[in-house]
Amino acid sequence: MAAAKEPQIITDKEQMRKWSREMRSQGKTISLVPTMGYLHEGHLSLVREARKDTHLVVVSIYVNPGQFSPTEDLSTYPSDFHGDLLKLASVPGGVDVVFHPQNLYDTKDCRKGSRGGGGGMVSCLEEKGMGHQTWVRVEKLEKGLCGKSRPVFFRGVATVVTKLFNIVEPDVAVFGKKDYQQWRIIQRMVQDLDFPIEVIGSEIRRDDNGLALSSRNVHLSPEERKKALSISRSLLMAKASVEKGQVNCRELRDLVIQEIHNAGGRVDYAEIVDQESLEEVEEIRSPVVFCIAAWFGKVRLIDNIEIKI
Ligand code: AMP
Repeated sequence: MAAAKEPQIITDKEQMRKWSREMRSQGKTISLVPTMGYLHEGHLSLVREARKDTHLVVVSIYVNPGQFSPTEDLSTYPSDFHGDLLKLASVPGGVDVVFHPQNLYDTKDCRKGSRGGGGGMVSCLEEKGMGHQTWVRVEKLEKGLCGKSRPVFFRGVATVVTKLFNIVEPDVAVFGKKDYQQWRIIQRMVQDLDFPIEVIGSEIRRDDNGLALSSRNVHLSPEERKKALSISRSLLMAKASVEKGQVNCRELRDLVIQEIHNAGGRVDYAEIVDQESLEEVEEIRSPVVFCIAAWFGKVRLIDNIEIKI
C-alpha cells in the first residue's frame, strides 16, 4: 500500500499565493476546497471530487469570524487540526496543501468593540475590532432561507471565499450541496465578478441513518441525534409525495414541519424554492429544492433535497 501523503501546511497568505503562482507557472491546475475544519466524510468527498478535476488540491481550514454573529457558536465551533490532517492523508492521492491562515484578516486595528463599517450588521470580525471594511454581497440570493435568521452569514462567506480565491487563485473550487444556498451564492458571485474559476457542487453525504454529515453533529446528544433523523426522513417523504403527484407546496411544507415538530425539533424554516433563483414557489412545476433548517436542543441543522419533476 502506498504511504499516506502528508500535505504541506501553509499558514501565511503571501506564502500561499507564492506556492500557487509557482505551481501555475509549471502548468499545474489547482482545486480549492474551503472548509472550517473538524472534517468528516462529507468534506473528504469534496476532496475526492477535487482530485479528479485538477493536478493539485488545496484544502483551506479556517473558522471564519466574519460569518458568525456575536450571539452564534463561533467559540464552541469544534476543531481538531491534527485529526483533520490524518483524515486528509487517508484520501487516495492525498492533498497537496492545507492552507490554515493565521493572517487572513488585518488585526492591526484590533480594538475590541471598534465596530467597522458593516452597514449596521455586526459579525464576530467587527466585534473583535479587526480592521476590515470591504464586504462582498450577493444581494438577492443572500436574503432568503438561512439569510433571514443569519443576516451576517452570507456576507461573511462571500467575502472570505473571495479572499481565498484571490490568495489561492484556483482553477476549480468545490462546495457541498449540503449548504445549497451557499453553493448558489458562490456560483453567482463567480459569474457576476468574473472570477476565472469553475465552481462545482458536490452531493450531500449522510450517515447510515440518513442524517446529513455536519461538524456540528458532534454537539447532538444521542437522543437529539435520533430526533434529528426526522429532517431527512420528512424530506424523503415529501419527495415521494411529489412523485405520487402532490405539487402543492403548502401541503408539502406542512407535512415536513409536522414530522419534525412531532420528533421534538424546532423548525427555523422549511421552504420549497427554485433551484437557481432560490425564490419560493407555490406549486412544483420545475426543478426545486426543499430546504430545511431546524433546531434540536442547542444545535441548528440544515438539510435539503433536490426534487425534479
Ligand atoms: P464547513 O466546514 O461546514 O464550512 O463545510 C465546508 C464544505 O463542505 C462546504 O462546501 C460544505 O457544503 C461541505 N459539506 C459539509 N457537510 C457536507 C456533507 N454532509 N456532504 C457534502 N458536503 C458537505
